[in-house]
Amino acid sequence: MSNTVINQPAHSVMHTYQRFPLTIVKGKGSYVWNEKGDKFLDYTSGIATCNLGHVPETVHQKLSNQLNQLWHCSNLYEIPSQNELAALLTNNSCYDQVFFCNSGAEANEAAIKLAKKYAKDKGHPERTEIVTFHQSFHGRTGSTMAATGQEKIHQGFSPLTSGFRYLSYNDEASLEQVDNGTTTAVLLELIQGEGGVNKAEQAWVEKLSVICKEADILLMVDEVQTGIGRTGTLFAYEQYGIEPDVMTLAKGLGSGFPIGAMLAKEQVANTFQPGTHGSTFGGNPLSTSAGIATIETLLDEEILHQVKSNSNWLQDELEALRLKHEMIQDIRGLGFLIGLELTVEAATLIEAFREKGVLVLSAGTNVLRILPPLTTTKEELENFLQIFKEIITEAEGIAS
Ligand SMILES: *Cc1c(COP(=O)(O)O)cnc(C)c1O
Repeated sequence: MSNTVINQPAHSVMHTYQRFPLTIVKGKGSYVWNEKGDKFLDYTSGIATCNLGHVPETVHQKLSNQLNQLWHCSNLYEIPSQNELAALLTNNSCYDQVFFCNSGAEANEAAIKLAKKYAKDKGHPERTEIVTFHQSFHGRTGSTMAATGQEKIHQGFSPLTSGFRYLSYNDEASLEQVDNGTTTAVLLELIQGEGGVNKAEQAWVEKLSVICKEADILLMVDEVQTGIGRTGTLFAYEQYGIEPDVMTLAKGLGSGFPIGAMLAKEQVANTFQPGTHGSTFGGNPLSTSAGIATIETLLDEEILHQVKSNSNWLQDELEALRLKHEMIQDIRGLGFLIGLELTVEAATLIEAFREKGVLVLSAGTNVLRILPPLTTTKEELENFLQIFKEIITEAEGIAS
């Protein structure tokens, strides 16, 4: 296939994405290359997916070995790599058991099913509802789209899957509405990624956690974006001092190889028994090998330490920029999940960054989202900041 063909807009691919005018054909570490050989600093990490950078050596090695052994095995048989990844995840979290699937939406679907059956098993058939929050994002499948608290994502898809109730995030009054007698679970992002990089407040999360515990309502954290070291700890919930009943993972878990997971504490996990849930590809030998190498690398290589110190340094530098430039209204996030609220549309800056060889994202209209690989170097961060300073100075020149 020639480059001219792959670089053309694909008329036979459904138009579900507003694509940037860029074709990426190669990646290594913090960088990607287009078909012409131009190099870009990738501070999107495939939307918080390539957390170890592109084509990380340890994962490459593990996947190569597995490619020579076995690609697929149905879940009707024991899968050693699946058992090993489950043990790695449970040994390094507050959870006891794992269900594997292929994406974030599927992980949340599994959590939603678990929550519904949990209430019935506990003798509470009237508890059928799941509380989620305005501006949340939980996926694009039938149920996870309905769980998502954003009007624009529901548009055109009525009748929506019923059973979801939306409350206001970080809102004291909404805490009183969590338990209305019909609630079985709360599905929560500790940092709303797609919805604008909004961080849940510590005190609010603590109160929510207590309310859930007292009423035997499951607290389920969607860590599809915040998990796998993104915020400086393996999982974001660790920084809140809480132990949610359920956690969902995907994006970073396989370093780019598709895999999702739903983790639960034992008494909750027991809700699922043979025949209640399943997946053909979920937890297959290739995806779980990628997961093992990813988690082992993160735990071994001091990367989490580095995320904390580098992200603190970056936050300080960005704060200094904010004080100088009115265009930056607010800096939000945790670790390397960073949102900058702007007075202008994020799209204009994203384009300027791309022209200078840096890829960044938005989260909503006015929020610039920066997702460096966790392995990014101080030098790369300094380079990024330098380019950001140029861009913001130029943008303000145009605006005034
Ligand atoms: C990306 C994302 C999802 C959906 O994951 P997919 O793999 O695209 O299905 C769900 N929840 C959160 C918080 C996400 O960031």
